[in-house]
Amino acid sequence: MTDPVDEILDRARAGERLSPAEALALHGSAPFERLGAAAHELRLRRADPATVTYLVDRNVNYTNVCVTHCLFCAFWRPPDHAEAYVLAPDQIAAKVAELAAIGGTRVLLQGGHHPDLRLPFYRTMLSFLKARFPSITLDAFSPSEVDHLARLEGASIEEILSDLKSAGLDGLPGGGAEILDDEVRGRIARKKQTAGAWLSTMETAQRLGLTTSATMVIGFGETPEQRIRHLARLRDLQDRSLAAHGNGFTAFISWTFQPENTPLGAGAAKRGEPLGAGPDEYLRHAALSRLFLDNFAHHQASWPTQGREVARRALRFGCDDFGSTMMEENVVSSAGAVHHAMDVESIRAEIRLAGFAPAQRTSRYHLVPGTFLAPPPGPAAAGSPR
Ligand code: SF4
Repeated sequence: MTDPVDEILDRARAGERLSPAEALALHGSAPFERLGAAAHELRLRRADPATVTYLVDRNVNYTNVCVTHCLFCAFWRPPDHAEAYVLAPDQIAAKVAELAAIGGTRVLLQGGHHPDLRLPFYRTMLSFLKARFPSITLDAFSPSEVDHLARLEGASIEEILSDLKSAGLDGLPGGGAEILDDEVRGRIARKKQTAGAWLSTMETAQRLGLTTSATMVIGFGETPEQRIRHLARLRDLQDRSLAAHGNGFTAFISWTFQPENTPLGAGAAKRGEPLGAGPDEYLRHAALSRLFLDNFAHHQASWPTQGREVARRALRFGCDDFGSTMMEENVVSSAGAVHHAMDVESIRAEIRLAGFAPAQRTSRYHLVPGTFLAPPPGPAAAGSPR
């Protein structure tokens, strides 16, 4: 008699859609290497089998002032704090100029939920940057920042996003999803938007033609059921958006909670229940996500929280993209992520070491001409994990 887990893996490898119950069975019981191999097989079919892409970008955290007090966050400061800051447009422009100088194509603008910054501040930031750097993509503000601004302005999400788009916004990154389950959100980020509000903000952004990505953070003490529910909600939204207008999430990206310097991490350590997730758990999750999210073309590896070696292994556990250079990442590094920035040559070297050809992409996953390098000699991409 065939093992039920093998049967599920066979169905996934054949391209069949898995139910949440089947994903749960794999989460608990699939052998590590077989799970990774099935995800890698699907990845080779759903994305270019010879190439791994990467993005040259920069993070700019325009303010660290926040009134939302998420318990997993070590980045925010109250408005009257000595370390509180808000960057002026010309300070942001100086950072974007450095990005443009190294051939970067995208800036990721994100900040806290500032109680006093209103719509004109955001419009000015975007239009100022778009006028000076027309070729740089402006992916900015997580759904929760948009939600916060909509409340301050007494406007709808659609009105705010349309306004920001007319000022130069190209995309809405997927930050703030954490775990899309309101029990978890109530425990770790009580004042942040609900799971349903995150999803509906993204649905609106997709309808308006903005570029969007989907994220997930594991290691908050969530149950396997809550993890699968998060994935199922993303898959449902992707189905709806692709059917309605074809503009769905470009990619799925997961990483692990970094507990250092956070109230959530300190409380859990005191109770002897450390949070976060190690490399094997992260890799299992990356593989399971590739198998379950059958309508996502691209899955990104996360080097900032797991390091370059684990990210390289993730390229054999379902991921087809190495993420981005993330010049000046401040948020997860405040919470103890020790892997800060990677330069372009280091990213290319890791991709080649994994047996793939590196290619720079844009935020929309179009290849940047002239950045393709031939794959290294040696085993083909379908070979065993290195
Ligand atoms: S995660 Fe974002 S919303 Fe939450 S406290 Fe940190 S800066 Fe504020």
